[in-house]
Amino acid sequence: MTVSSVLVVGGGIAGVSTVAELRKNGYAGELTLISADALPYDRPPLSKEYLAGGRDLESIVLQPKQWYADQEISLVGGAAAVAIRPAAGEVELADGRVLTADKIVLATGGRAVLPAVAQVRRDVSVGLPVSNGQNRPVVPDRSPIHVLREVADADRLRTQLVPGARLLIVGAGLIGAEVASTARGLGAEVVLVDPLSPPLAAAVGIEAARWLHGLHAAHGVEALTTTVETVLETSTGVAVQLKGEPDSREFDAVLLAVGLVPETGLAEAAGLETSRGILVDAGQVTSHPSVLAVGDCARLRDHHRAEHWEAAQLDGARATATILETEPPPVTAPWWWSDRYGLHVEGVGEMRSPDAEHQTVVRGTLGEPPFSVFTLRGEQVIGAVAVDDPAAAKTARRLIDRGVDVRPADLADPTQNLRTLLRR
Ligand SMILES: Cc1cc2nc3c(=O)[nH]c(=O)nc-3n(C[C@H](O)[C@H](O)[C@H](O)COP(=O)(O)OP(=O)(O)OC[C@H]3O[C@@H](n4cnc5c(N)ncnc54)[C@H](O)[C@@H]3O)c2cc1C
Repeated sequence: MTVSSVLVVGGGIAGVSTVAELRKNGYAGELTLISADALPYDRPPLSKEYLAGGRDLESIVLQPKQWYADQEISLVGGAAAVAIRPAAGEVELADGRVLTADKIVLATGGRAVLPAVAQVRRDVSVGLPVSNGQNRPVVPDRSPIHVLREVADADRLRTQLVPGARLLIVGAGLIGAEVASTARGLGAEVVLVDPLSPPLAAAVGIEAARWLHGLHAAHGVEALTTTVETVLETSTGVAVQLKGEPDSREFDAVLLAVGLVPETGLAEAAGLETSRGILVDAGQVTSHPSVLAVGDCARLRDHHRAEHWEAAQLDGARATATILETEPPPVTAPWWWSDRYGLHVEGVGEMRSPDAEHQTVVRGTLGEPPFSVFTLRGEQVIGAVAVDDPAAAKTARRLIDRGVDVRPADLADPTQNLRTLLRR
């Protein structure tokens, strides 16, 4: 069937990549992007330069307004889809408008998790994180309790990150760690709690995880291995009871950075299959053939959701190939990046702690950037984490994608040009 109209719901990197790829690949039909924001913007800076005050909203938009006009993309900004009807190809907006299309692409991302462990209570009338009708967390403007997913979240948090402010960050994953670094840069006093020791071992392997986590203490952050029992909003801030401590502690602000819930509401209500994400096949098609899903909201059956920027972007390219019935982009090892305390970290593939099947190889000296840590299964690299060494991450990705056999000694030797290993 020739597709002559496509409607994308959600203006994050996945949605914007989808419309960009469609036009780049010659799709000339009607193209509509429904975006909750007036102009779609990028999220990674929200915990880094934007939060630090080094970049403004204009500098983090994914495309300037004129681009949508030039590409003949109808951008419906500041709008929310409230229902989809796949059989009729309909999308209903909050203002009552009903749009139709041959294909609907859901790119609705996710919302920050509000942890059940934090029994958030209040003893003043300032309000708390609650859910609105769309199940998105709403943190009232003046609340000292924060999540970080949207520009408005970053704006609110930044007003509290003043020198000497006491910030508790719950969750030392990538976003929690980045905010700890940014907040220290702004002069805040930071306590970072996570039940895992070290956090992120599943993503970066145990060695790199230990070193990366150790950076927090080296930069004046109090990093604790514990959980939060209660969070009580008071008239002066927040009283937090940490597990294992006799008394509660006082903070000016608390950031809950404990993960993401995929935004599956529209799909569920329309009867599409969902399970920890909108379930899709390798072409991003959901359980209804005219609806696709891309980015953080989608999950490839039998796989984990990626929750990384590039994965969301590639989903857009795959959805485009499905819609245009062209060759999909090659499958590559997943890649992500993160920044903390002036260091740039990149990860590819799958990191494992050493065991009977896997070994760890360090290139350079662990803890002295630039260095990289590789996971090998047999003679093949399956994952790598590179600190201040993007070239190593790039080559590791090629080694993984091509399944090249390597000698651990060659990998470990920083004087050996890694790219020569690709020629084997
Ligand atoms: C603070 C932060 C820092 C990050 N840093 C990094 C990093 O350094 N490296 C990295 O690899 N990844 C990073 N990520 C992850 C990366 O940004 C995400 O994986 C990526 O944004 C996912 O894109 P998406 O388009 O799928 O979803 P989103 O970016 O969540 O976009 C979805 C959009 O859909 C909208 N929407 C939802 N429902 C509706 C509806 N019903 N109607 C209309 N619109 C709707 C939402 O408002 C949102 O604008 C970071 C994420 C955050 C939050």
